[in-house]
Amino acid sequence: MHLWAVNEQSCLWQNTAKSRQAKQFVKQPNIRLTKYALKLSRKDLRVLAGLLTGHADLNLHLTLMQVRNDEVCPLCLVAEETTLHLLGKCCALINQRLEILGCHYLEYEDLALLHWRPLLRLTKASKRF
Ligand SMILES: [Zn+2]
Repeated sequence: MHLWAVNEQSCLWQNTAKSRQAKQFVKQPNIRLTKYALKLSRKDLRVLAGLLTGHADLNLHLTLMQVRNDEVCPLCLVAEETTLHLLGKCCALINQRLEILGCHYLEYEDLALLHWRPLLRLTKASKRF
């Protein structure tokens, strides 16, 4: 029964045409990460869900939502502030990224292999939330 449910979820996830960014981070259902997420505080879960889906309170999303009118990252001032930029590319976070994630720069494929705990840790270190 349990395995059947996981397989069903996996099929639904693979076949949905939506959730473009979330699919970059979550390739298939992961019970270990799901259990981790369900134990988070409401605030941390909101931040994590925003990062994974691209609906975080980051400047590009807020600009697209017409809440802000400047999509630039306030930390480095050189690129649009997106989840990938914040977690993988922002030069202002290069030291924290190396310390927390073990690498200076990361792409989606690299970030998708990491546990969500260090991603949240880096997000908190950025002081953007
Ligand atoms: Zn930046």
